[in-house]
Amino acid sequence: MTGHYGIIFPIVCMGKENKTKRVDVYCRDGHVLFENYLKVGGGRLQKVYEDEIGEDFTKSVGLPQSAVIFCPECNPPREVGEVALIHGRRAYKVIQSGIRKVVT
Ligand SMILES: [Zn+2]
Repeated sequence: MTGHYGIIFPIVCMGKENKTKRVDVYCRDGHVLFENYLKVGGGRLQKVYEDEIGEDFTKSVGLPQSAVIFCPECNPPREVGEVALIHGRRAYKVIQSGIRKVVT
């Protein structure tokens, strides 16, 4: 009888539902790419839905699908994402090697 279950169980249950939060996304060199992005769900940032971005510093709105997104500041240009349609919504798939890791 450890009595631990009463403590651990509620934390595990709450974990997934409460991971929605606003995050800023930066390139590897620390330039801001997306500000105030509403990230839903825990884990590593894989994609960024266009309509949940507070401010898009990459100015990627209107780019065609599969277009590569670059950091607006890096020289030479650094690839940070790719335009995609995910679940019928416009989104940018992030390129993990181009951005600072975002985990919630
Ligand atoms: Zn950069």
